[in-house]
Amino acid sequence: MKIFADLHTHTLASGHAFSTLKENALAAKEKGLEILGVSDHGPAMSGAFPENNFSALAFFCPEYLEGVRILKGAELNILGGDPFFDLSFELLQRLDYVIASMHKPITSQKTARETTDLYIETMKYDFVKIIGHADNADYVMEIERFVEACKHYQKIIEINNSSFVVRKSGLENMRSILKSAKKYQVPVIVNSDAHIYTDIGKVDLAVKVIAEEKFPEDLVVNYNRDLFKAYFGV
Ligand SMILES: [Zn+2]
Ligand SMILES: [Zn+2]
Repeated sequence: MKIFADLHTHTLASGHAFSTLKENALAAKEKGLEILGVSDHGPAMSGAFPENNFSALAFFCPEYLEGVRILKGAELNILGGDPFFDLSFELLQRLDYVIASMHKPITSQKTARETTDLYIETMKYDFVKIIGHADNADYVMEIERFVEACKHYQKIIEINNSSFVVRKSGLENMRSILKSAKKYQVPVIVNSDAHIYTDIGKVDLAVKVIAEEKFPEDLVVNYNRDLFKAYFGV
């Protein structure tokens, strides 16, 4: 399965990633990707740039870099209170898309029922297109209820290649999520979560698990162009 877009990538603006947007765009071009999403961590992440980094991205970044279509996004932290996310709603309307994720220690750990409820609250926001690395074993949840809600709110579930490196304890959750997403016909997206340009477009392990679970390729958003266009307009 050859993907044409990678929508989860980080730049220096995340505070713990090592490449510039130009380096990432060049790497995307070399890997044969047509679309690159830039999704730096929201400001609640230690070391991440403040909100004005994202407003500048919206203002100044051109549609194409190195011949690659750039989608301007963010990986939001789900705070769950007031504010609910770590970027303002006003700004979020101006980005092309948003991934919403739970990260330790920013999102407080809860029971499986409460974590599922928090994900479902997250899905109620239109600008959230993708739920990031929900396989994370730090946040145990009720998988079937989560997937049913993704179906209801038309959210995309991420199958994150970096989970095979940094979240190995959640890999069984990833398989359970895929089984449930197959049952309910919920779309997924395979993303690299690259923190350095060499990892842009690297989704080999995520693709392998999708094949092993016999998940329908047509429900992989960055493989199915019609589905991608329906969500992202490009
Ligand atoms: Zn993340
Ligand atoms: Zn990330």
